[in-house]
Amino acid sequence: MLQNNIIDGRNIAEIIHAETVQRINKLKSQDINPGLAFIRVGEDPASKVYVSMKEKMCLRLGISSKVFVLEETTPENIVLDLIQKLNNDNTIHGILVQAPLPSHINQAKVFSTVNPDKDVDGFHPVNFGKLLLGDDSGFIPCTPAGIHELLLRSNIKISGAEVVVLGRGNIVGKPVAAILMQKHKNANATVTICHSKTKNIEDHCRRADILIAAIGVPLFVKSDMVKPGATVIDVGVNRIPDPSAKNGYRLVGDVDFDSVKNIAGKITPNPGGVGPMTIAMLMRNTVIAAEKQTLKH
Ligand code: NAP
Repeated sequence: MLQNNIIDGRNIAEIIHAETVQRINKLKSQDINPGLAFIRVGEDPASKVYVSMKEKMCLRLGISSKVFVLEETTPENIVLDLIQKLNNDNTIHGILVQAPLPSHINQAKVFSTVNPDKDVDGFHPVNFGKLLLGDDSGFIPCTPAGIHELLLRSNIKISGAEVVVLGRGNIVGKPVAAILMQKHKNANATVTICHSKTKNIEDHCRRADILIAAIGVPLFVKSDMVKPGATVIDVGVNRIPDPSAKNGYRLVGDVDFDSVKNIAGKITPNPGGVGPMTIAMLMRNTVIAAEKQTLKH
């Protein structure tokens, strides 16, 4: 049984999946099959798990997916050519290139090659720019979009709230700050972004009505860094050694859940908080892409 201050990401993700399935069924009734292509380069174990989870969810919801697995040594131009081919393929409405890419491949160039209309991961500069400008015609990266939905659907007051984001990464920290600071009824927060050069980070954390941890440091946020009653969102996915585990490690977040749950007003479990929402947003973005592209024709 979950405690009543837990933000149950699995449950909220299921509600969003049900909404997405309705949209998929509507498209299918018009003979449109939403299609998502995944490109994975190399054998990064976490990337394999993520792509496989997303692929399974496509199957469950009725999105047709294609997975392209390229060898670690694949030259950059081959990856770019594949993206161009998928940009021109009318059966593919969304393209996701799984990060991280091998170091000889320029990730920014790869993300910029995806047609912005098929950029369901939201990393094309056009979509990132639209997010910052408050233009809602683009795609928003899935993890920060999922965090926003978690807050909205848990009735957390964002307008006027002090939000502290730990981490200024392009995947989570920067875009989630951009979402929450917009002049919009579902945003209007006062946002502070902290990073590795921030002084007195604990003091910033203690001011937060909403604290979002996305730094990739295991159990960084302790209970004495959290204002009583604050909402705490744990984005981190970190491996720590655990001799009792079969594979020798276990996954923990950036928040020391066991202590912080006693002081937080609301808190995401980890796993079971942000992770399922990331996939739910990807599925939803793919359906939005299919709707937009087919409306154009
Ligand atoms: P990232 O791009 O590497 O950014 C990490 C940020 O944390 C950087 O801004 C860095 O500061 C800051 N940082 C690192 N150590 C710090 C410290 N001790 N104190 C203060 N700031 C510190 O990482 P990311 O891609 O945003 O990912 C962050 C975490 O979220 C990771 O654990 C990742 O696995 C997880 N994640 C989860 C999901 C999900 O779906 N659940 C999705 C994406 C990411 P500098 O900029 O100064 O270096």
